[in-house]
Amino acid sequence: MYRNSTCGELKLADENKIVTLAGWVSKIRKMGGMTFIDLRDRYGITQLSFNQEVNPELCEQANKLGREWVIMVTGTVKERSSKNSNIPTGDIEIIVAELTVLNASQTPPFTIETETDGGDELRMKYRYLDLRRNVVRQNLELRHRMAFETRRYLDDRAFLEVETPVLIGSTPEGARDFIVPSRMNQGEFYALPQSPQLFKQLLMVSGFDRYFQIVKCFRDEDLRADRQPEFTQIDCEMSFVEQEDVLTTFEGLTKHLFKTIKGLEIPDFPRMSYADAMKQYGSDKPDIRFEMKFVELKDLTVGRDFVVFDSAEYVAGICAEGCAVYTRKQLDELTEFVKRPQIGAKGLIYVRYNEDGTLKSSVDKFYSEEDLKLWAERCNAKPGDLILILAGETEKTQKQLCELRLEMGTRLGLRDKNNYKCLWVIDFPLLEKDEELNRFFAKHHPFTSPKPEDIPLLDSDPGAVRANAYDLVINGVEIGGGSIRIHNSDLQKKMFEVLGFTPERAQEQFGFLMNAFKYGAPPHGGIAFGLDRFVSIFAGLDSIRDCIAFPKNNAGRDMMIDAPSRVEQEQLDELGIMLKPVKE
Ligand code: ASP
Repeated sequence: MYRNSTCGELKLADENKIVTLAGWVSKIRKMGGMTFIDLRDRYGITQLSFNQEVNPELCEQANKLGREWVIMVTGTVKERSSKNSNIPTGDIEIIVAELTVLNASQTPPFTIETETDGGDELRMKYRYLDLRRNVVRQNLELRHRMAFETRRYLDDRAFLEVETPVLIGSTPEGARDFIVPSRMNQGEFYALPQSPQLFKQLLMVSGFDRYFQIVKCFRDEDLRADRQPEFTQIDCEMSFVEQEDVLTTFEGLTKHLFKTIKGLEIPDFPRMSYADAMKQYGSDKPDIRFEMKFVELKDLTVGRDFVVFDSAEYVAGICAEGCAVYTRKQLDELTEFVKRPQIGAKGLIYVRYNEDGTLKSSVDKFYSEEDLKLWAERCNAKPGDLILILAGETEKTQKQLCELRLEMGTRLGLRDKNNYKCLWVIDFPLLEKDEELNRFFAKHHPFTSPKPEDIPLLDSDPGAVRANAYDLVINGVEIGGGSIRIHNSDLQKKMFEVLGFTPERAQEQFGFLMNAFKYGAPPHGGIAFGLDRFVSIFAGLDSIRDCIAFPKNNAGRDMMIDAPSRVEQEQLDELGIMLKPVKE
């Protein structure tokens, strides 16, 4: 028997028990004639104690151990003289009587503690050691509990978990596919699913009624902090539902997770139309932990010969409470912030509403204090506030102002990670125009249903058609999205037409779906949550990487197993693949 207790459970009440523990040597401390070892396993840390005088041989043996050696000990639980209130086992120690080395270890490349000296690259290369750290393992425990509670909630509501294939066909819409060559059908390729979208809709045609799957999805996109080439969705679909039914069910799931995992009661989620979100926050995933809504000022600024405003399609500001005291240096910093290439504004205009009621701006040459007063009124500014203004082309400027708003929110401490604000964004446009290609793309995906009252616009003004589509946003992060689907083959055909598919290509790519719709497709709709993002929001992490056991780095590489990698020539020959010579 390797153990009868874990390193996280022994307390004063266990005093004088004889126990056997197994784990990793976390720390060794020698003090006078004593040697203390922190023994670690998944459940915690327990102090082992060896006394040179009482048992010199055993103490010698202990002194020879190194960090991360795997050992097994038997000893007696005793009250500790110097207690450690930071850990649950801090009142006791084990007076060791027997020590067995189960395995030696090389010195690890970084310290396996909450605060580690290992850099990102090193930790990724030795991820199995990184995962021994409490902080990292806790994220995965949280992930497990969230997945488990999700299954419980959905199972209670008659959802069936069904596995869908991973080797499927490539489709042209959406992100770039990862493709897999077929050996048995040379020259042909599978694709890895970007989501099980089509399969879950087909399951509705099959009468499954309520489906879910916690499932890996793959998208070959450039990576950012919240993106991984493979990621996990909580993917769901329901039959005989309208938008309201889906929102209610999944607002329920979200509340269930907050309640069971974090002990929080979240009030009903507000809803905001896409149009309002863009107008007030310049984003389809607004962070509503704080207000600071956009205020449009164009009409108040024209006709004073200030070319920047006069020539701008859009002029808008935000009011930063209590920031009139910002120094020149702070304002310069903000200007630099909006001028960074990632944001791309040309400049920043400010109005200080001083405590004494006077108004000072960076455009005093053009505007009188009376003018500024009107701006301040519209912004609901009070003495002590600072108004920050951007101008330019509408959409671009809204995006820039959105970044500035978030930056100000951060600076003012308004984005507390433990303050959770959930929001449904609804009424998304069905289509999005690519001006360069001069064609429409589906904003969500081509199976999303237009709002019935907007269907006539499909021919006359496709850009104005709204969809029965919705996103769940928490603290400015898009956690999930979905839609009510088209379930009529004629409407689906029409949609492909609007997206510029010839009937032949639509048939080739999606014929099976349109065929299926001819055999009694029920009205249906669904949603998918990004589990990685959901967990990282619960864990208060900035990146989804730390809640994934074996993530890829920003170049899409697995540093530990060193993938992707080249393959043998025979493998390529078997697949009938000839590589272009790589330039050295
Ligand atoms: N399949 C969609 C996605 O991956 C979600 C949905 O519409 O259910 O974004």
